[in-house]
Amino acid sequence: MLRTRALFMLCVSLLSYAPVLAQDASDINAKIRKEETDNSQIMRTMHFLTDVYGPRLTGSPNLKAAGEWAIKQMTAWGFENGHLEAWDFGHPGWTNERFSGFITSPVKDTLTCEVLSWTPGTNGPVTAHAYQMTLPEKPSQDEFTAYLATQKDKVKGKIVLAGKQQIVPVTLTPPARRQDDKQAKERYDPNNPNAGQGRGGPRGNQQPPEPGKLTPRQIDEQLDQFLIAGGAVIRVNDAGREHRQIRAFNNRTFDAAKALPTVVMSNEDYGRIARILADGSAVELEFNIVNRWYPEGKTAYNTVAEIPGTDKRDEVVMLGGHLDSWHSATGATDNAIGCAVMMEAARILRAIGVKPRRTIRVALWSGEEEGLLGSQAYVKQHFGTFEEPKPEYSKLVAYFNIDSGTGRARGASVFGPPEAASVVRQALAPFEDLGVMGAIASKSRALGGTDSTSFSQAGLAGIGMGQDPIEYNSATWHTNLDTYERIIEDDAKKSAMVIAAGLYQLAMRDELLPRFSKETMPPLPPKEGTPAPATPTPQARP
Ligand SMILES: [Zn+2]
Repeated sequence: MLRTRALFMLCVSLLSYAPVLAQDASDINAKIRKEETDNSQIMRTMHFLTDVYGPRLTGSPNLKAAGEWAIKQMTAWGFENGHLEAWDFGHPGWTNERFSGFITSPVKDTLTCEVLSWTPGTNGPVTAHAYQMTLPEKPSQDEFTAYLATQKDKVKGKIVLAGKQQIVPVTLTPPARRQDDKQAKERYDPNNPNAGQGRGGPRGNQQPPEPGKLTPRQIDEQLDQFLIAGGAVIRVNDAGREHRQIRAFNNRTFDAAKALPTVVMSNEDYGRIARILADGSAVELEFNIVNRWYPEGKTAYNTVAEIPGTDKRDEVVMLGGHLDSWHSATGATDNAIGCAVMMEAARILRAIGVKPRRTIRVALWSGEEEGLLGSQAYVKQHFGTFEEPKPEYSKLVAYFNIDSGTGRARGASVFGPPEAASVVRQALAPFEDLGVMGAIASKSRALGGTDSTSFSQAGLAGIGMGQDPIEYNSATWHTNLDTYERIIEDDAKKSAMVIAAGLYQLAMRDELLPRFSKETMPPLPPKEGTPAPATPTPQARP
């Protein structure tokens, strides 16, 4: 079976390429594999991006320093034109420098928490009694206002637990780790009507607001206002996840005056306090939170470096991922690893002495976690849109993106007509033994879960790499567990090799990637109100 297919593939490749080019491609592919196997820099890059510069919250000095380090490193590898490109984030930078939390009565113990970003600190240790609010479920404005009126005198001087403890059932089914080859093939089979869209697809799980009900975001904001007005001292949210995992996002107003010092507490500690309070016992807690604000963070930066092309140097193939992270770990799987893989894919081509016909440009984005802001600013500034193109619009071949954790690349979702996906599929085909199973075309211009969709939305060929889901949704994505230790070096190396091969083909072929015509370009979807969702539902966060 394998042998028959190999023979078939050989005939196909002989038919579709001149023999010299086929020889050239297989020679290059062998060199790509050898360079990455012998000289991989991925884990070194990972060490710097996570251990030394993580976490990399947008607007923070860490993120800027990580970008500067990446430029220095890519320049040392022989890249040119390395620079930071400014865009207007509009919010100050923020970091948490110090945190401690304890239960001091009726027992003494340390609490596991993360600080909500862009909230104020405590100005020294604060000790106070805990008070738990039981918020009404899906209230209307009237119901919520009436509920808050009953709480008016209860929160003053208190550390307030905002809501009931979420009951997180013990998981009996293990999370998905690797897709088997059959599944991955189906996912990237152009003839499969149910082929997956990967993370390039539209944002999932966004429930439309129910008529007459407040959205979770509205409840959240009104609760903040109420707690400030009522004289509460600290707000505590339940992490609502197993195994002391915590996802801490942000004060969505980015305004210190509009939130209390706020922590997200492990579900286990939150539950313990709630159960002791339910016994009728008083609980005393102590917190010390030191946060720092950086006004200069209003200007954020994308990180860019190039390998200049030769005879087609004004045409560009881009690749990248987002360098910014959330703040409660060092942002390893989301998405230092994507940056390390993309830097590496380009480094491989440079190291094996390829002279690309087109310019290869690495871009490491910022503001992704706050709503794909950095990549959208870049696309707007450089390319415009299909409907209102800038001169560079016609010169971009494609943009490769990777942003789904440590798992190896299993296929590509290519915004464009089926012919565009088949070019990418042919480029990846010689790497099926590493697990990459093909490419499918996407027609979606909806802004989705990662930066490739900033390109697709503009009508440009955003290519989203799909990956094995290893530990990502279940454990590391946006959590306090997202560290260097969670990276599988072998998977990351495979992704780098596969992407280097795709990059090479798009940089060398005579033609640009086939594009939609004026007649076939899908229309833009109706405008979303705000790119970021109303509540930190995990699936909806970029
Ligand atoms: Zn990400």
